[in-house]
Amino acid sequence: MAVANELVDRLQTLWDAQANEWPMMARGVEHLASSEVREVERGGLRCKLQFNPGRVVSAGAKVDAKSIAARPCFLCESNRPSEQRGVDAGDGYVFLCNPMPIFNPHFTVPTLEHQPQRIGTCLPKMLELAERLSGRFTVFYNGPKCGASAPDHLHLQASPLGATPFEELLVGVRKSGGNPSQGPADHDRSCGGGVDVEVTADPVQPAIVITGADRVAVLARAEQVVAKLAEHFPTDPEPMMNALALHADGKLRVVLFPRASHRPSNYGTDPGQVLVSPGLVDMLGLLITPRREDFDSLDGEAVAKIYREVSLGRVTLNQAGLWD
Ligand SMILES: [Zn+2]
Repeated sequence: MAVANELVDRLQTLWDAQANEWPMMARGVEHLASSEVREVERGGLRCKLQFNPGRVVSAGAKVDAKSIAARPCFLCESNRPSEQRGVDAGDGYVFLCNPMPIFNPHFTVPTLEHQPQRIGTCLPKMLELAERLSGRFTVFYNGPKCGASAPDHLHLQASPLGATPFEELLVGVRKSGGNPSQGPADHDRSCGGGVDVEVTADPVQPAIVITGADRVAVLARAEQVVAKLAEHFPTDPEPMMNALALHADGKLRVVLFPRASHRPSNYGTDPGQVLVSPGLVDMLGLLITPRREDFDSLDGEAVAKIYREVSLGRVTLNQAGLWD
């Protein structure tokens, strides 16, 4: 039986009410309900494709500095749709319903203040929210050049815990004691202060998994790893990455996907191109394809190419010695 959680109840109430009273969100929820899902296999790993035409704006978003400066920020309270209401998340953050959801429910968690998207600023909050939403929601972050559609306004997101192929393995691996190839590897591991740091065995799209029971210790280790990424893979304005935090079975886990590029080389809408703009959800094995032709045509090989191009490979990542 699920443990009573007042915050989770308030979020579900907000979601249900907004889906009724806000036409834009009602359409987004309908798009999601009618979206199609197809599985492809990449190197023995299962990936899902979600054909969700409601996401075309997000996947096609212009996120260059000039375009961003020219549009009103949709996460600032003064520009938000009049129907959009929120639930206080504490520390100057607010839960808002995502009107073009990938999940049901799917929340965006911006700061009240208009400030740039930076992992260093929001990492402590990400872990705190993951603990408060224990067993129910994953809290995640897309870097300013790694899928965030508002790189100028700091925001996290929250999705139902375990809703993606990677999370199924991540949480399931501990329950079963198994060691699937996409889950944490037994090697490349360091322990210290009750916190484990591991790199997953996936050669194409490795993730750094930081696990521990104590939030302060996990945060300190995660901040160290981010600092190492910044040192070894310096990009402006921060090392490219997607990140998540989730709390389950008494353990807090932070997962970082270090990135090599913003979008695949064949990103676009011309013939031969794909409209896939990978963020954390895509890195977790749920690729969002807002166009029918991409959904129909992408196979395991094409998906592997996308991941290979946007990820830091395992060999490169190992050279950084993130667990020294
Ligand atoms: Zn803003």
